[in-house]
This record gives sequence, C-alpha cells and structure tokens, in this order.
Amino acid sequence: MAQLQLIDPAYITPMADGTIKQINPLTGTRVWTVPGRGHRPLNQHKPAARPLDPAQAGRDCAFCQGRYRETPPEKTRLVLADGRWSQLDYVAADQLFDTVAEFRVIPNLFEILSYDYWHANYGFELSPPTAHQRQAYLANPAGRDHVIAVQSTKLRAAGWSEADIANLTEEQIIAQATGFFGGGHDVIVARRHWTDDAVDTTGLASSGSLTAAEHARYIRLTVESMRRLYDNNRYARYVAVFQNWLNQAGASFDHLHKQLVAIDEHGSTLRLSLSRARENPNIFNDAGVNYASWHNLLIAENDGAVAFAGFGHRYPTIEIYSTSATCQPWRQSAAEIDLMSDLIHAIHAASGPHLAVNEEWHHQPIDVDLPMPWQVAIKWRISTVAGFEGGTQLYINTIAPTALRDLVVPRLFELRQAGQIAPIRIATECSGAPNLLRYNPNLAR
Ligand SMILES: [Zn+2]
Repeated sequence: MAQLQLIDPAYITPMADGTIKQINPLTGTRVWTVPGRGHRPLNQHKPAARPLDPAQAGRDCAFCQGRYRETPPEKTRLVLADGRWSQLDYVAADQLFDTVAEFRVIPNLFEILSYDYWHANYGFELSPPTAHQRQAYLANPAGRDHVIAVQSTKLRAAGWSEADIANLTEEQIIAQATGFFGGGHDVIVARRHWTDDAVDTTGLASSGSLTAAEHARYIRLTVESMRRLYDNNRYARYVAVFQNWLNQAGASFDHLHKQLVAIDEHGSTLRLSLSRARENPNIFNDAGVNYASWHNLLIAENDGAVAFAGFGHRYPTIEIYSTSATCQPWRQSAAEIDLMSDLIHAIHAASGPHLAVNEEWHHQPIDVDLPMPWQVAIKWRISTVAGFEGGTQLYINTIAPTALRDLVVPRLFELRQAGQIAPIRIATECSGAPNLLRYNPNLAR
C-alpha cells in the first residue's frame, strides 16, 4: 500500500471519520463523499402507476410511432422485418407510416446550434447531396406540407401568433427550415415509449429495456450519425453525444433518445482532459482504468471494453472505456462497437428504468493528434447541486466509488443469470492488473 501511495497521486483519499475525498484526474473537480448522507438510489424516480390508455397507443409523446409527422424530416431509420435489419434513408413524408422504425434519426426541432449559426459565422452552405435531398423532399406535396407544418409549430413555440404566421408566404416559411436538412443537431429515437409488456405508466422503456442486440444497433447508428455530422460540416471540431433519461436528467420526453450536436469547440471538459494528456499521454490508463483496477473499482469487462466506478464526479458515475487501439468510434469495426455497446447496455440495465441518468460520450476530436480512448460516462442524477457546492466548488456525491460498485455488481450478476445482458465478466472475474497493457490503446498504437 505504501508503495502504491508513492507512485499514485491521491485521487481517492479516505479520511479517518469515513469521509472520502476525491479529485477527478482529468478535470480536477473535487468531490467529497460524507458518511451518513448516502441512500439507496435505485428506483428513485419511479412514477405513479396509472393504467395505460389503449386509445393513446403510439401517441404518448411527439417521439412515438403514431406521431412521425410532428418531427422534422427524417434522416434515416432502421427497420426490423422477419428478423432482418435494414436501413432506409430520407423516407418521403407520404411513406413515413409504411414501415415502423426501430430507431430513427431526425433533426432536433430546437437546435442548440442552428444552421443559421454555421451559415452566419462560417459561411456554411448545404452540401450538394443535402441540397438535392431538400429539393426532392419539398418537390413531394406531402413533404412540402410536412415542412411547413413543422416549421409553423416551431414559430408558435417561439411566440409567434397565428396572425403573424399567416402573414408569411409558404416560401418564407420553407426558407426558415433549411436547418431541417443541413443542421448539426440530430436526435436518435427508439421505437418504444413503453416496454412491450407494460400495463401501466411504470413500464417506461429505457436503454436497459432494449435487448443487447437492439442496443448494439442503437449504438452503431449513433456512431454512424456522428461520422455523418463530421462529414457534412467541415467547420465542426467536435460532435457531442449524450442521452438524457427522464426529466430529472434534462429529457423533454420520457421516451428513449440520444442527441448529437456538432460544435465548433471541444468544450471545457475535453480541453482539460487533453491538456493533461499532453503532459502524460498515458493519463487515460494511469488515472483511469489502471487506477480503478488497482483500487478494486472495476465493475465489468469484455474483450473490447471495461467499466469501472468513477471517482471525482459530482454524481455517481460509471465510466466505460473502449479498449480498442482505434480511438475514434467510427473507425472501429462493428464488432468493437458492439462490445462497447454490450457494456453500456449492461450498466443501463443495472441502473434500471426508474433512475434519471445522463449518458455522455467522449472521443478523440478529429483535429487532435493525442490518442484518447472512446469513453462513455453513465451518471446517476440522484441529487442537485446546492449552495454549498456553488459557493465552494467542492461537490458532495452521496455514493462513494466502492459503494457504487457494490450497488451495480449484484444487479449485473442477476441480469447475466437471467440472460438479459450480453456475456460479460463481472467484478473479480475481470482480469485487471495482470493484463493492463490490453487496456492501453496508447501503447497499442
Ligand atoms: Zn413517446
């Protein structure tokens, strides 16, 4: 132990009274776990049970399968028929209901960075294929009606009166809707609002409710969408990927979806991580996976990814690192992406559908030469930041990393036993220290 202290910075420091002080190795965030403030968090956001109304089936929210026309023109959808998956791109407005989308990629109606942002600041224009796609969609009368209807909804939400909207010509409305085709903020929506066997409003379908095979398609589609956003906008320096599950985690609808936003910066978290990596190119191993392994914080692994209880986070956070030597997700093989998906899925399944969760992706930006493993953080939003924390920048996280591990690990054994997650190695089954180089994408390059 003494030797460990010599070579290890004290990212985790247990105090005599039981307080556990943590420092995030990548961001420097300081977090304390104070004894006696912990509580069992699973099921914390379970809604009241109300029977589902069969008349409302497929219409519970704007992401449901009976309301395809309420969202902007679709970029792509995955369809499952007779056990075979297929992908349909740019489905025409009058064909939206011909198939059922297991997952669909649509522009966010309310973009964080709009087409106008890129156009005004960078001179960004639609690429010729995208411009052609827009033209084809609008040439179909159903497509034209759809674009006008959705853009009018957007104007109403922005406070426009019916009279103001009526004063616009159709061409003026369509001209405002260029972002539906060339925007950089996508949403990936899963089919189910409720699980197939749900009888009441507690039956929400989360990431963990998908099968591992369905989840793998979801992750592959997200990775592909990330690549497409980079390809479509030469000014994008990063594509942020995240999933907010339940409104306590910032979701507008309790309907499973991910978001991707192309941005012209790396963001402060990534900037801090990259500056540490510039000093120590092996930081993601030294201060991530290896540190977690030496401190018995590994939760699960397979041959392509490892999950551990994170330290120095404001919220209890499970971190999942790809162990591929290929850093950028869209350059990985489908098999490598699927192994990452299996662990993300398992952690969501263990968290359960009644816990508000943020899933945040981190990857090596396209304009950075430093190797950085693809990482996904799953954060349990069980507390809100309070005045003490705002004033001191010291954060109270009610669950210590070891306690988080001990909440997740037994659930993973149960789920694996029940065949509800892909085969993974759990806790002490992980190979850990003897095989650390396997976790080392930097050295493997
Ligand atoms: Zn819905």
